[in-house]
Amino acid sequence: MLVLGIESSCDETGVALVDAGAQPLPRLLSHALYSQIDMHQAYGGVVPELASRDHIRRVLPLTRETMKEAQRSLAEVDVVAYTRGPGLAGALLVGAGVACSLAAALGKPVMGVHHLEGHLLSPFLSADPPEFPFVALLVSGGHTQLMRVDGVGSYELLGETIDDAAGEAFDKSAKLMGLPYPGGPHLSKLAQQGDGAAFRLPRPLLHSGNLDFSFAGLKTAVLTQAKKLGDELEARKADLAASTQAAIVEVLVKKSLGAMAQTGLKRLVVAGGVGANALLRSQLNAACRQRGIRVHYPELHLCTDNGAMIAMAAGMRLQAGLVKLEVLQRGYTFDVKPRWSLSALQPELAAAP
Ligand code: ATP
Ligand code: MG
Ligand code: FE
Repeated sequence: MLVLGIESSCDETGVALVDAGAQPLPRLLSHALYSQIDMHQAYGGVVPELASRDHIRRVLPLTRETMKEAQRSLAEVDVVAYTRGPGLAGALLVGAGVACSLAAALGKPVMGVHHLEGHLLSPFLSADPPEFPFVALLVSGGHTQLMRVDGVGSYELLGETIDDAAGEAFDKSAKLMGLPYPGGPHLSKLAQQGDGAAFRLPRPLLHSGNLDFSFAGLKTAVLTQAKKLGDELEARKADLAASTQAAIVEVLVKKSLGAMAQTGLKRLVVAGGVGANALLRSQLNAACRQRGIRVHYPELHLCTDNGAMIAMAAGMRLQAGLVKLEVLQRGYTFDVKPRWSLSALQPELAAAP
């Protein structure tokens, strides 16, 4: 059974084809990705209107590329999956509109996928996939959450950020230091040449006793430090970058270990763009090794947004029997959910007609 997946929630257009009949897990046959980063860089962040227009330009060529690489034809596709939310409304509408039109033309059903479920299940695309149950640390540009995951669709929120996401903390701090968008990868590269202990930056909620996060204060502290440095900032930028990264990573590691202790589980899954961060990976690996915990990550190139994770999430939902092809929507109407909570997903779907 072939699932075509389309991702367009933010500034990456992704398309992928998955064989959902493969065992023990759906198998990725091909995927194509276009990142709009270069276009948005001039504005220091994502411009929603430009993002939507660019998705329109890219999505069909990427679909053709995906089908060609897999040597399959669109007529063989059994279900078209797309990111229904959360994300930028206009950007989501492009993927949703194309997916629903394509499905209607092919006479096949469509499936709306939760973007964060895509991130969360993306480690199942790796050579070393996890097994349920596990704790998931979801660290992306818009979200920072710890979840208990007992199976596909079974997501219990353990804690989350009360303000900025971890990726946002990276991006905003990087911007204050004059680094290009998106700041995370640039900041972490610069940090390699710096001393993480050079500046003592706050670790918000580190000792809060719960699994919530807060990163807004850190950004303010970085701004204060940058102003204090004045002309010296340029010379100390690598130290400031390293100190910022050290603060974010320390909080993420401590809270992840807290979630492991609270649930008693021995498997941790890290997903989302910040999961590509090398310091986070090395510190989590070291801390977890000591405690007999296995850590799983998505492949580096699948940490940030892509179509493969959307097709995979759809494929895993079908395999788990959570969604039946017969009851999926066919036809010309569609909607998107720019704001959509992952922990509310299952009850909501259960209540759907
Ligand atoms: P969401 O999934 O919450 O809607 P998003 O799709 O924008 O948000 P992702 O694509 O998962 O988020 O991740 C992008 C984020 O990951 C950006 O904030 C980016 O700076 C960050 N990021 C990517 N690589 C790294 C890295 N090596 N170190 C730190 N942060 C990184
Ligand atoms: Mg992006
Ligand atoms: Fe994302």
